[in-house]
Amino acid sequence: MAESFPCLTADIVDLLRMDHSTMGQADAFGDLPYCGRCTCSPTCGNILTAPQGSPGGCFIDLELCGDSVAWLNLDADLVSVTSVEILEPEAFGHQARRELAGLGGQFQH
Ligand SMILES: [Zn+2]
Repeated sequence: MAESFPCLTADIVDLLRMDHSTMGQADAFGDLPYCGRCTCSPTCGNILTAPQGSPGGCFIDLELCGDSVAWLNLDADLVSVTSVEILEPEAFGHQARRELAGLGGQFQH
């Protein structure tokens, strides 16, 4: 993820570090592979960090000022992130938003 989305990754790592419960995910996040966008529906904004259809467990709710800005879906063992769902692109930095815009779809505002 750090290679494909350097700025978005930096923003997400910052958010992960802000909370004790998610700090443990911060270091590994940049090393996750970018596996493309989820194709389950045209409007799905999931950014895959594991092959599509990987069994899911639960997700980490990333918040900024009390608002959910992104969800990190975890695998069944609750160890690694399988996909990233950006809920509020506006909450991320300018550079990160440009990276998201490059994905097209609903990010292209
Ligand atoms: Zn999807």
